[in-house]
Amino acid sequence: MTIDLDQLQQGNRRALAKAITLVESKLDNHRAQAQQILEQVLPKTGNSIRIGITGIPGVGKSTFIETFGLYLIEQGKKVAVLAVDPSSPLAGGSILGDKTRMEELSRRNEAYIRPSPSEGALGGVAQKTRETMLLCEAAGYDVIIVETVGVGQSEYEVAGMVDFFMVLMLPNAGDELQGIKKGIMELADALVVNKADGESLNLAAQTKRHYENALHLLRQSSFWSPQVLTCSAQEKNNIDTVWGMISNYHIDAVKNNAFYEKRSRQNQEWMDKLLFEMLELKLKQNPDVKQQLPDLHKKVVNGETTPFIAAKTLIDLL
Ligand code: GDP
Repeated sequence: MTIDLDQLQQGNRRALAKAITLVESKLDNHRAQAQQILEQVLPKTGNSIRIGITGIPGVGKSTFIETFGLYLIEQGKKVAVLAVDPSSPLAGGSILGDKTRMEELSRRNEAYIRPSPSEGALGGVAQKTRETMLLCEAAGYDVIIVETVGVGQSEYEVAGMVDFFMVLMLPNAGDELQGIKKGIMELADALVVNKADGESLNLAAQTKRHYENALHLLRQSSFWSPQVLTCSAQEKNNIDTVWGMISNYHIDAVKNNAFYEKRSRQNQEWMDKLLFEMLELKLKQNPDVKQQLPDLHKKVVNGETTPFIAAKTLIDLL
């Protein structure tokens, strides 16, 4: 497959889509070509703000992203929306990709929406999303939104690849964390209580206070204290406030050097993760390891050798 890099860097969507197809491909030669392209465009990447959005199904993620994306386009931005969907075909198909979503946004030339890739080999879906994010940056997208459902591990992975991580919540003061894990609350740069409209307006304000108190007990370490806002994606209320908050974060983070430090750290963690996965693969594929593994397992089970000696024997074969 030939990809015109100039076209890609001029924001040509066909060139971008083709490059992403290479990144998502399972074929070794496609993946090798994708890595070459990524290395070539690397100097053109990094110039976006990456925003992660999570929340339980029904909280209003797609409605919010549609409203928010259209608002950003009005501000002169180009917006890419990527999904990280943890569900496998075995679990009944994707959670994020099964309905027509963000219809108005998807019709805009300034927006690029890409559904979740299917499970990948090395690094999985998160790896492909990270690489797709780089391609979108090279194609000139200013804001990259990475959406995920708040189940499984995917929200942790998304939090590890974005600059600003946001959890959408429902107006519901009674329910402590609405099924959101405490670990995720600790990663959130903001909680946004959506559906603050109609009869839920008061409840949303109450929910906001509740979470402000809860967050107070959590992380306060960095230059940024997590914020709690309310909005209505449907009524398009307070969407500008949400963007204002993210812009302020961006400015403060750059000023404090935290912005690029965080990205460097994320890149390093990403590299280390890949390194360990490659090592594991290499170990499992090594013919000597394959041959000796069953025998060593048996010896450990029968108490003829120690787990340490058995493991060391295999590692020394590499
Ligand atoms: P997702 O599953 O998180 O992507 O949620 P959706 O965006 O599909 O929204 C779920 C339902 O909530 C839909 O019926 C939306 O119309 C509705 N919804 C989304 N945002 C709002 C909002 O701000 N206010 C109200 N009242 N309803 C909303």
